[in-house]
Amino acid sequence: MEYLPVTVHLLDQPCLIVGGGEVAYRKLKHLLRAGAQVSLVAENFNQEIIKLAEEQGLELIHSSFNAELLTDQYLVIAATDNPEINQLVSQVAKQRHIWVNVVDDLELSNLLMPAVVDRSPLLVAISTGGVSPVLARIIREKLEWLLPKNLSALLDKLKTFRPKVKKKYPDLKTKRSFAEWFIETSIADKLELDIAFEQAINQFEDQYQAKGKVYLVGAGPGAPDLLTVKALKILQKADVVLHDALVGEDVLELIRKDAKLINVGKRANNHSTQQAKINQLLVTYGKQHLTVVRLKGGDPFIYGRGGEELEVLVEHQIDFEVVPGITAASACASYAGIPLTHRQYSQTVMFITAHCKNSEETLNWKSIARQNQTLVVYMGLLRNEVLTRQMIRYGRHPDTPVAIVEKGTSLQQRVITGTLNQLPDLVTKYQLVSPALIIIGEVAALASQLNWYPHNTFIQHPANSTESNLLQEAV
Ligand code: SAH
Repeated sequence: MEYLPVTVHLLDQPCLIVGGGEVAYRKLKHLLRAGAQVSLVAENFNQEIIKLAEEQGLELIHSSFNAELLTDQYLVIAATDNPEINQLVSQVAKQRHIWVNVVDDLELSNLLMPAVVDRSPLLVAISTGGVSPVLARIIREKLEWLLPKNLSALLDKLKTFRPKVKKKYPDLKTKRSFAEWFIETSIADKLELDIAFEQAINQFEDQYQAKGKVYLVGAGPGAPDLLTVKALKILQKADVVLHDALVGEDVLELIRKDAKLINVGKRANNHSTQQAKINQLLVTYGKQHLTVVRLKGGDPFIYGRGGEELEVLVEHQIDFEVVPGITAASACASYAGIPLTHRQYSQTVMFITAHCKNSEETLNWKSIARQNQTLVVYMGLLRNEVLTRQMIRYGRHPDTPVAIVEKGTSLQQRVITGTLNQLPDLVTKYQLVSPALIIIGEVAALASQLNWYPHNTFIQHPANSTESNLLQEAV
């Protein structure tokens, strides 16, 4: 960090601006906003400066700059188009330990003016260390949109409430919960800011303190920018997060730092005991006055056992909300360039999982193997031989295109394409690992043209491979 960001109390402090043109005028307005006692020195001043000086009773010194003028100044801004004057101002100021900003000259300045989003008393300052004022301005504009307009009024209110809240809730946790509730409900425009303290406390205790809530949240396929805005908001106010192994580090990073994180990822051999433990944890935390998040990869209602967990919550009368996530089928298809439906090739999509031992008997293979359909297979790496054999037996052509998307949307994403009869071989030959998604149908062939994701590794397996004899067996 080359510069230390600080805020300076400039009220009634003597400050000098050297220059009388448009830039000087802009800087003058900044300093006046902070209440500084500004004087300006230049041979000539433009009309705007003269007018403002008259209105505000500012001193305009019609002369060239000399070192004497810096006596007793707190800071000085050089805004002339004369490099020699700027140089002199900087040199004298630095000798006398006066803050100096020379417009558009980093070398000569030891004070930089950041771009500011002003919701006083809240200030957000953006500095690029002088490298790109344009970038600072663009970020400022984005923040202007992002930060609610009523923040100044909100802060005023918090200031008056502060001592009362402290008295009412001596323990830190409730005090913080009140502040969070008050800020969030007023930002969402669900609270009038002229509310009286007692009234606010009543609403808070009714709505927030009475009960905790469990949020069943979909974390999406892995890339943190594929989280929903709602998921992000909830993660940032969570007290406890129970997450699956599939949820990646990048998403976990976004969780409120002092939340309790519990990894409840299941191992293959003890699913049911694990699920019972998860249910138990949900109930235990759900009954406390906490924001509990059950965070699952993709969408919680697609092969996520989200429904079963909610049934447990209902049984224990615990409040909940469900936040959908982008499921692996949508995410992987998009990031592989495979449209799941296509007017020409596929009018229906089916999601299946075929990882159970008895899938061969229990699944409806006739509908799975239907023509003009895209089949998306979750958890399909292990038992794809059954899948391939059955699909061909029930009428899907052995040459039907397939794509396997490994670690979809991550920087390590791989997309392997081939044909249905090659599927088991593709998995072993390319040593595919979990998580991986299999997409079967004519649309899978479009990946060769439409794969757009720059971090994707795309492999098209050669056609008519003789490596597999499954086709012969099946036919
Ligand atoms: N609820 C999740 C699915 C959980 S089942 C969802 O909606 O996506 C886990 C399976 O999802 C994995 O075995 C894999 O088949 C698939 N999957 C999840 N994330 C994936 C990813 N990033 N890339 C490829 N497949 C993924």
